[in-house]
Amino acid sequence: MDVVPGAWRRTAAGAGLLSPQGEVAPTIFAEMSAAAVRFDAINLGQGFPDEDGPSVVLEAAKDAIAHGANQYPPGRGIPDLRLAISEHQRRFYSLEADPDTEVLVTAGATEALTATLLALIDSPEDEVVVFEPYYDSYAAVVALAGARLRTVPLRLPDFQPDLDQLAAVVNDRTRIILVNDPHNPTGAVFGPEVQAEVVRLANRHDAVIVTDEVYEHLSFSAPHVPIATLPGAAERTLTISSGGKTFSATGWKIGWVHGPAELITAVLTVKQFLTYVNGSAFQPAIAVGLRLPDSYFDDARATLLHKHRILGDALRTAGFDVHPPQGGYFTVADATTLGGADAMAFCRALPERAGVVAIPITAFVAPEHHGDYAGLVRFAACKRVDVLEEAARRLAALG
Ligand code: PMP
Ligand code: GLN
Repeated sequence: MDVVPGAWRRTAAGAGLLSPQGEVAPTIFAEMSAAAVRFDAINLGQGFPDEDGPSVVLEAAKDAIAHGANQYPPGRGIPDLRLAISEHQRRFYSLEADPDTEVLVTAGATEALTATLLALIDSPEDEVVVFEPYYDSYAAVVALAGARLRTVPLRLPDFQPDLDQLAAVVNDRTRIILVNDPHNPTGAVFGPEVQAEVVRLANRHDAVIVTDEVYEHLSFSAPHVPIATLPGAAERTLTISSGGKTFSATGWKIGWVHGPAELITAVLTVKQFLTYVNGSAFQPAIAVGLRLPDSYFDDARATLLHKHRILGDALRTAGFDVHPPQGGYFTVADATTLGGADAMAFCRALPERAGVVAIPITAFVAPEHHGDYAGLVRFAACKRVDVLEEAARRLAALG
């Protein structure tokens, strides 16, 4: 296997997966959530809401349990959820999806991504192109699949990639271009020229486009545009999303993949040996959620934007330099002026120093590129307003 410096890698010594530092390490989210508990700190690290989602969705799960939805659902997901996903793709994006062959329900977006990468990667020569910083599971799964991770940097101030750098990285060994939009951790939403270049390069080099759109309903400046809607994209794109963020139910782990039937079948062949199936009672509830009126999705987006503004003001007052997000759960701020030039050290100290937990952006970056993002910190805005206000009071004491 080709070991990429700085990437997660499998070990022959039976220790599983080693971090870029060569450690058997918990994820950054597990580490920082444990710190939140230890120091009784406000957890603006791991991205999960502290309020329940719509009661009609919660009730649907209870009803499903009461009415016997407690055994294995079908391998592709219950038919009504696959139909609801197909309706959702048409309603929001005018995308067609045959619920029987072009939709697969998974254990969250995480399993969808894992099964997709394991299914499509054939050889150690295969390359997977991602934008950096990248969501932590991408590098780990590329390592599990035994492929090469290739990265294209996202640049300040708005975290868009340079198109020449993108074109220079994609080549005939590129098996997958993996695009997370809206983007975790930076909050970027990729412009039409970036999306068009991804499609052009994928066609030119016969790569599959895999998208991670878990924040699809949380795009603030403009309606979300799935790459699959671009000309020449649908036939080579697997669109991944999940109900966790949209319905504030991150623990339910109901995700899905939509794409061409033969690619979906390939993903299914792996998925059936990962979890086989999951969430029999949550699947019908997410179907209810996907059919909620537009007002639900509009309110969820507006509420989160309002929270980002509270968080952004708090961070500015505390002395951070803030990069307001265009979408998603997270606001990125520069901690350099607060002594946070090394954001990892800053975040490890922050729970005790200020009673707040945050995540350094370097956790999403290969070590050899840490210098480009060294002072940047990610804060989750998906918390109650009173919690954000208390975090603001605590952070104000930092300066
Ligand atoms: N992709 C991104 C970009 C995420 O932020 C997350 C975590 N919320 C996931 C995937 C995982 O989603 P799920 O919980 O549905 O597995
Ligand atoms: N997606 C969540 C985040 O970025 C974390 C999920 C996890 O802990 N794996 O914070």
